[in-house]
Amino acid sequence: MRFALPCLLLLLAAGCARPAIDASRHAKSQDSRVQFLILHFTGEPWDRSMKILTEDNVSAHYLVRDSPVEVYRLVDEDRRAWHAGASSWKGQTQLNAASIGIEIQNLGDVAGPDGKVVYHAYPPEQIDAVVALVKQIVARHGIRPDRVLGHSDIAPMRKVDPGPTFPWKRLADEGLITWPDPAKVAARKPAFEAAPPDAAWFQERLARHGFEIPATGRFDAVTTRILGNFQMKYRPAVYDGRPDAETAAILDVLTAP
Ligand SMILES: [Zn+2]
Repeated sequence: MRFALPCLLLLLAAGCARPAIDASRHAKSQDSRVQFLILHFTGEPWDRSMKILTEDNVSAHYLVRDSPVEVYRLVDEDRRAWHAGASSWKGQTQLNAASIGIEIQNLGDVAGPDGKVVYHAYPPEQIDAVVALVKQIVARHGIRPDRVLGHSDIAPMRKVDPGPTFPWKRLADEGLITWPDPAKVAARKPAFEAAPPDAAWFQERLARHGFEIPATGRFDAVTTRILGNFQMKYRPAVYDGRPDAETAAILDVLTAP
């Protein structure tokens, strides 16, 4: 026992020899690791949504319940949540590493009485909570409006959420996302009606907008699917994936230099 104390003192002295860190100076060039905000619907009822997002191999930073409206933080913002999966936007991939994920509880797409797929509506109070949350997160991390996206944008071949009933226009009105000027869209539409653009044009513009889309020069299944997701967001009245003049005009306005 007589030798134990000197040994302990030596160990403590060794600990003190590690470099002291002076944090009083700060670099000008830095930003948040969080560059994107991704919105989802859970596609499940409440109990299952919470169970999956807390116990399975998927997660999100936030979960917003529909009724009563409640907001849960399930993953701290400085940690990575597993919500995006294989994903891409403007050439950036692995978006879990650079994003915050919000899961909005909503049943998503379900078969209606006639067998046609219908999407559940979002209660206005739930959307109010989502908008308030998005505002806070965007301000905290300096996230650009063109980087507040849906799962349907970054993984269009696998995902449609948050779907055509999600009011993206409301986020646009709050200045939270990029939105095409309706007057410009109306002005450009007649030219596209007179001369419909070909598949190569749509693919080039969809890629410029941000989607990962192969330039096949054909209106193939991938292009139809991505056009459908694009329409769900910007023109949710019709999202059949057909390359109509209004869709071309919206895409043209969004991607104009
Ligand atoms: Zn999702």
